[in-house]
Amino acid sequence: MTNRKFAVDPITGFINRDGSLPLARRVMGAATAKGQGLTMLWLDLDRFHKVNASFGHRGGDRIIAHVANRIRQRVPEAAHCLRMGSDEFAILLPGQALDDARGVGLRLAASLEQPLELDGMMIHPTASIRLAQHAAGEPLQAFFERADLAMLDAKRQGGNRLVVSGSEAFRGRHGVQLAREELAVESDLHLALETGGLSLDFQPVLGFDGRIDAVEGLMRFRVDGRQLAPGRFIPVAEKTGLIVRLGEWSLLQGTRFAARLCQEGRPTKVAINVSRAQLTSPGFLPALHGALICANVEPALIELELTESLVMDESDVIQHNLRRARATGVGLAIDDFGTGYSSLSCLKDLPATKLKLDRSFVQVLPDDRRAYAVVRAMSRLARELGMAMVAEGVETPAQLTALRDAEVDAIQGFIWARPMNEEALLAWLAQRNTQ
Ligand code: C2E
Ligand code: CA
Ligand code: CA
Repeated sequence: MTNRKFAVDPITGFINRDGSLPLARRVMGAATAKGQGLTMLWLDLDRFHKVNASFGHRGGDRIIAHVANRIRQRVPEAAHCLRMGSDEFAILLPGQALDDARGVGLRLAASLEQPLELDGMMIHPTASIRLAQHAAGEPLQAFFERADLAMLDAKRQGGNRLVVSGSEAFRGRHGVQLAREELAVESDLHLALETGGLSLDFQPVLGFDGRIDAVEGLMRFRVDGRQLAPGRFIPVAEKTGLIVRLGEWSLLQGTRFAARLCQEGRPTKVAINVSRAQLTSPGFLPALHGALICANVEPALIELELTESLVMDESDVIQHNLRRARATGVGLAIDDFGTGYSSLSCLKDLPATKLKLDRSFVQVLPDDRRAYAVVRAMSRLARELGMAMVAEGVETPAQLTALRDAEVDAIQGFIWARPMNEEALLAWLAQRNTQ
């Protein structure tokens, strides 16, 4: 397709920007001789800088090489492919009618959207594509510039679309780009770890007699002035492994706050969520020891919350780390209990100190008598095994009454308090004391 005497880009094997004009001149000459026109597709990957930010330039180069392969496979035999910049490609299509060229552009867009795997993460690349037809007498340089500059229109419309120069806009396929958004979340998280944006809110857990059992640290993440829900960023952090650093940050903040509560004369247990990747990482025990030492806090004032499936996992590293953590004196709570389908008989061998009953059980109370019977049986079992039983997500007085009847030890939920920042929590504690 292309002639090797023009400068070639080593990553894609396409003619590079330096070779673009001389090549176009030759292609143009040949097309004119046959009485044909020339059409150009200008293709620019959306948010490619995020890929570079997340995976470095070598990762970026690998994506470019994949993309180039897809382009090569989808363009007609007579096409000439050019790499015009880091994530920009031009495809010269001699002798193609506008509709045929548009068809090539749409097929390319669909092919580029197929997910790509890079370092275990799925990336869904999309491109903005500009289509321009060479006008009679138009200098080639101007033709390129028109395609390139007009590209901004496609970008301004949000990317992932095909725009025909000088005519109306055509939308490309516009599915939900979850992975692409995830990529953005990931690079925002990287930035937040370096420059701020993360914080912990704390939500009280109360016994029926009004005593404060603990406060749970819940991570909050602000980006561009708005808050992103944990449900949006925690899964991304888990997929990418960033959760290990976020978790260490939580551990440091939680232990520091426990120390602050002591200094303020209100010693209170602080619960901190720990993810699977964090618990299995070699840095877990050093990070736990470090956080306890740095904050100079009594380990009994710290409780680690781990999901049921994690605590029940029999792998050596998990059971070893759980026991070593417990040996430091921190409490271990089994979070989201009841969602993991684990055998209750396993409970007796676990080093846990608390069960946190999942919200899905609480939500169906008091009407669901079978759920009620299970909750009551679990409370008794927990007590017999020396564990406390906490119910999460309690919102209504009727749920509260049912849980009291089921002999649950403590309650966490909007009915009593929402998660709040440190200052608000201190004010909340002070106000309770004066009542
Ligand atoms: P979780 O550990 O089960 O935390 C309890 C969630 O229930 C929190 O959601 C809390 O705001 C919410 N909640 C509390 N009371 C009520 C209620 O009465 N009604 C309803 N509808 N919800 C209630 P949040 O803050 O959105 O956190 C979601 C999840 O994100 C947490 O679930 C936890 O799994 C994860 N997460 C939060 N912070 C961290 C962290 O520092 N590390 C790790 N690994 N995970 C975290
Ligand atoms: Ca939790
Ligand atoms: Ca939970």
